[in-house]
Amino acid sequence: MSENPPILYCANHPTVETTLRCNRCEKPICARCAVLTPTGYRCKECVRGQQKQFDTATWLDYPLTIVISALLAYIGSQIVPILGFFTIFLAPIAGVIIAEAIRMVIRKRRSKRLFLTATVAAGVGSAPSLLLVLVGMLAGGGFGMLLGLVWQGVYTFTIITTVYYRLSGIRL
Ligand SMILES: [Zn+2]
Ligand SMILES: [Zn+2]
Repeated sequence: MSENPPILYCANHPTVETTLRCNRCEKPICARCAVLTPTGYRCKECVRGQQKQFDTATWLDYPLTIVISALLAYIGSQIVPILGFFTIFLAPIAGVIIAEAIRMVIRKRRSKRLFLTATVAAGVGSAPSLLLVLVGMLAGGGFGMLLGLVWQGVYTFTIITTVYYRLSGIRL
């Protein structure tokens, strides 16, 4: 014999029957209102409240982060043709410099969305140089341009991964 859980009605949709409850506030929630989290089903309000704790960034952090990240990534990409092979060693340092510059501005505030913004901005900042060598190669620039493209590619890939991992606190 199986014991059926009592029929509840969703707190947001009073006509919808459900057997689910939010495992934090115990509110009955229907399948549409339930959000599956690593700790079980929760209502949208509880999930939102939880995200706020981890998202302490202010709106001003976003434009500042975009400018710093894109500008430094752009400046770095201008040095790549001079560095050539040494880009492999110096790009991680560039990534660290960008991440630390952003950290100086945002201090202890953190937000996953902000870290992603910084990562995208670094990619955008390094894109003009990357596109330039790509166009140069397609226009028949030969081996020199191909190498240039490789170093720019290495640079872009390295700084975006370094910026993201360093900001989000994951040590490689
Ligand atoms: Zn809840
Ligand atoms: Zn509902």
